[in-house]
Amino acid sequence: MTRPSEMPGRDCPRCPRLAAFRKSWREREPEWFNAPVPSFGPLDARLLIVGLAPGLRGANRTGRPFTGDYAGDLLYATLREFGFARGDYQARPDDGLTLVDCRITNAVRCVPPENKPTPAEITTCRDFLTAAIAEMPRLCAIVALGRIAHETVVVANGARRSQLPFGHGRTHSLGAAKLFDSYHCSRYNTNTGVLTPQMFRDVFAQVREHLGANAASA
Ligand code: URA
Repeated sequence: MTRPSEMPGRDCPRCPRLAAFRKSWREREPEWFNAPVPSFGPLDARLLIVGLAPGLRGANRTGRPFTGDYAGDLLYATLREFGFARGDYQARPDDGLTLVDCRITNAVRCVPPENKPTPAEITTCRDFLTAAIAEMPRLCAIVALGRIAHETVVVANGARRSQLPFGHGRTHSLGAAKLFDSYHCSRYNTNTGVLTPQMFRDVFAQVREHLGANAASA
């Protein structure tokens, strides 16, 4: 079997439920992106951020991870603060925002109903995450947003879930890279105080310390 590339095709058929959901939104909103959302940011970045899956009216509509999603407001503001993004984030893929030494992807590339991918869909889409990781030659830090992203990254790297349990603020050695865990920056988590902006900043402060000054500006 040939290994998939980093990017599923626009009509990827691997998850029948997600393909049907995508088709129904293409009919309903033909102007939306409505396809597997590609990773965003340079391939030679040292940092990879892994989210869960595109939001229906966010990344699934705009075609850029976290763009137009409530979660993107906190994520992109924090990335700018720590020098991992440059430019204005205006929740549009043509807002000119660029990522610096950082790339963003999702554990599941297609929007799932109710924001909840099934375990089978997470497993099926993991090949693309494995390929995305393999395609980053300088990768040395991964931020996993939430438990599902964490577990998917762990398994994609050939480790066992039980050996590396998820915990907000925890770090783990994962081959050449260090894995940083954070609660997901979702609306639910921020509205309920599970994740505060300061808690999120603290994770990226650790990442910045690990990576040192930005390669581009060093
Ligand atoms: N948007 C994304 O692209 N990923 C998430 O995990 C949440 C919102």
